[in-house]
Amino acid sequence: MSLNDSWMQRDLSVLWHPCTQMKDHEQLPLIPIRRGEGVWLEDFDGKQYLDAVSSWWVNVFGHANPRINQRIKDQLDQLEHVMLAGFSHQPVVELSERLVQITPDGLERVFYTDNGSTGIEVALKMSFHYWRNVGQPNKQRFVTLTNSYHGETVAAMSVGDVALFTDTYKPLLLDTFKVPSPDCYLRPDGMSWEDHSRNMFLHMVQTLARHHQEIAAVIVEPLIQGAGGMRMYHPVYLKLLRDACDRYDVHLIHDEIAVGFGRTGTMFACEQAGITPDFLCLSKALTGGYLPMAAVLTTDKLYQAFYDDYTTLRAFLHSHTYTGNPLACAAALATLDIFEQDGVIEANKALATRMASATAHLRDHPHVAEVRQTGMAVAIEMVQDKASKTPYAWQERRGLKVYQHALQRGALLRPLGSVVYFLPPYTITEEQIDFLAEVATEGIDIATRSAVSVAVAPGAPDEFRDPG
Ligand SMILES: *Cc1c(COP(=O)(O)O)cnc(C)c1O
Repeated sequence: MSLNDSWMQRDLSVLWHPCTQMKDHEQLPLIPIRRGEGVWLEDFDGKQYLDAVSSWWVNVFGHANPRINQRIKDQLDQLEHVMLAGFSHQPVVELSERLVQITPDGLERVFYTDNGSTGIEVALKMSFHYWRNVGQPNKQRFVTLTNSYHGETVAAMSVGDVALFTDTYKPLLLDTFKVPSPDCYLRPDGMSWEDHSRNMFLHMVQTLARHHQEIAAVIVEPLIQGAGGMRMYHPVYLKLLRDACDRYDVHLIHDEIAVGFGRTGTMFACEQAGITPDFLCLSKALTGGYLPMAAVLTTDKLYQAFYDDYTTLRAFLHSHTYTGNPLACAAALATLDIFEQDGVIEANKALATRMASATAHLRDHPHVAEVRQTGMAVAIEMVQDKASKTPYAWQERRGLKVYQHALQRGALLRPLGSVVYFLPPYTITEEQIDFLAEVATEGIDIATRSAVSVAVAPGAPDEFRDPG
């Protein structure tokens, strides 16, 4: 038995994997990874895989990055952890100063949690609680866009709209206002991203005008709806939204958990709209993909609404055990150093251009409806019928075929349903981008050529996206 097989068997007898129908692993081998270096992951049989999705969008500077490794090792010898209530430490102070400094003006306070979903919970709870503290307790509801994803905990799911992840749990969820997404894949033929995003804003402004007295906040994934299939829109939407939120006295929550730290071409997506949200949620690339941590930044105005004598019970009494973990802060500080010292945002421009040119030919593919890009994210939408953009039935799992082909060829490309995408580490080379494009093209050819016969359950929702 190969080493891979033996680790796979031990794993499958005790683990339950995330976002996985475990029965799939009766056919689909699990890949035990022994080590990583740069953009490469290596399994126990010595096969290498180019990590085209940055291990679920976290790894921006490669695996086992010597600079991040060293910083964590140094921190480990100093202090591994201390509780953050009543105590503090150097890395958390330095990181908070840095985050306040590099994010848009007006974001002056940082609250930490230990993953993206709980960061979203914090923003939602803080917004809700703010309105109580300032004597507007009727503002309790949240506005979200269709096709949004904000995480897996119950309130975060409530503001999400990817049916695959939330439909089962509907009875548990908060009642939110859902506004049609500005998703430019759905724009009329010949219309620009900007015009479509502007037009779609009418739905938002109607909801705000009608219901603002009961609305606490609007939450959006700026520029890219990630888990919803890397659907993209124009920054003008964010600008209009900021104006409307001000006008109607509603908070604006930017979930930049996936798009923060350079993914959209600027350090933060909100920079492209020139705005400051009331809450900026960060995670994923925050620690360079090393350790779980999220940061929620907010304004002094918000902070002051909680600042009072203890007995007024205005404090935000929310905590996670590992809040502000020093090792995670050290990883984040090393990550920010690399951004600064290496001029990463500027250097990424050439890589983004290469990602565009390497995938441009796929626009002519008979089963590709769109190749879209925002900064360091490229997505290729496979469809059954190009002219009408008729999607493949989700049960056909076309994306899975691309995934399997890519693994054979030595790339980790894990599509979202029928959307093949690259979100590579910023340490990728132009040649490696070309390799990914070649593998993706072959995979798309194979996945779209075969006639798949599946029993399509009657009434199954078309928009179900299979993540694997
Ligand atoms: C990944 C993600 C989350 C959830 O973060 P977790 O760390 O997985 O809980 C929330 N919002 C967006 C936009 C994400 O991409």
